Amino acid sequence: MPETVRFNEFAREPAALRAAQLDAVCKVMDSGWYVLGQNVCNFEAEWSIRCQSTGCVGVASGLDALEIGLRVLGIGLGDEVITTPLTAYATVLAIQRVGATPVFADIDPSTACICPDSVRHCISAQTKAVIVVHLYGRAADMAALSEICTSQGIELVEDCAQAHLSQYAGQPVGTFGRYAAWSFYPTKNLGAIGDAGAITSNDSDFLSSAQQFRNYGQSDRYHHVVAGQNSRLDELHAAILSVRLSYLESWTNSRRNIAARYWDGINNPKIRLLLRPADPTQHVNHLFVVCVAYREHFMQHLAKHHIQSLIHYPVPAHKQEAIGFHKISPQGLQFSLSHSQTCVSLPIHPHMTGSEIQRVITACNSW
Ligand SMILES: *Cc1c(COP(=O)(O)O)cnc(C)c1O
Repeated sequence: MPETVRFNEFAREPAALRAAQLDAVCKVMDSGWYVLGQNVCNFEAEWSIRCQSTGCVGVASGLDALEIGLRVLGIGLGDEVITTPLTAYATVLAIQRVGATPVFADIDPSTACICPDSVRHCISAQTKAVIVVHLYGRAADMAALSEICTSQGIELVEDCAQAHLSQYAGQPVGTFGRYAAWSFYPTKNLGAIGDAGAITSNDSDFLSSAQQFRNYGQSDRYHHVVAGQNSRLDELHAAILSVRLSYLESWTNSRRNIAARYWDGINNPKIRLLLRPADPTQHVNHLFVVCVAYREHFMQHLAKHHIQSLIHYPVPAHKQEAIGFHKISPQGLQFSLSHSQTCVSLPIHPHMTGSEIQRVITACNSW
């Protein structure tokens, strides 16, 4: 029986990486300083440089990064925030948690990213922000989305949880809006060994407010200027992230090479591939998603060939039980709905072997 092609293979990471991480962990333990210390400062500096942002604030998760940013902007009850229903629910949960109303725009079916035209139709007098998700690692249409937000005086927020190092027209994602939210959940392109996240921004006032919010709303020790929260990035995770960051570029190249082989090799007319970007730097291939009409049958076929597959996402946000009060585009959400009913994610982790990649292509084409 062939070995299963799995969705992630952390066990295949290089021995040198494991050794460097263990060394980093020992150093943190020996330092006796576990929260908001030198490792967090170092990682924040490194990450903001990689993102070409003025600054970075490490937080506890991607969800917290999104939520804290909205709080800093004063977005809350009565305000509307436009986003896509085709995302990790955390994007929407951040809007709900600050008391604002999620408003769903439809996607562009060729990329599954939010459709700028649909965003235009969702704008009302209450609209305060648009949260753009660079879904699956692909930079969304930032030219159109930036233009909409600037001309309407609406805040632009970027959910970069799947898009580490992705670029739009040569400019890094995360630098188009007021702030970017990053997740370092273990399976993201850059992951910690637990939950972690960050906010980057080019607005230094915004960054200092975010710094207060993540630490009980303190300006100085025991002086509280806002009702903040506890969402600090741990020293252990920051130290691990700094080590793993040195691998990110080569992991991203691996993902791009696998995606190129899929785009070249999968030619089954029953499988629709998402649009291949003309410029490969626009995509960091966090996920490789295809669309099929008979999804269950296709996934069973892959399983028979010992290939894992997943669905991102089977239920669009506006159909979730937890959604509560929300609005949707006056033109409806037909593309989001049909995408959620047909999408399948193929394995694309950076440690796949050449023969595993070929097995996925062969299995797709033999369906
Ligand atoms: C993972 C993810 C999040 C949430 O990040 P956490 O660190 O798990 O809180 C938000 N948005 C998107 C698009 C994600 O993929």
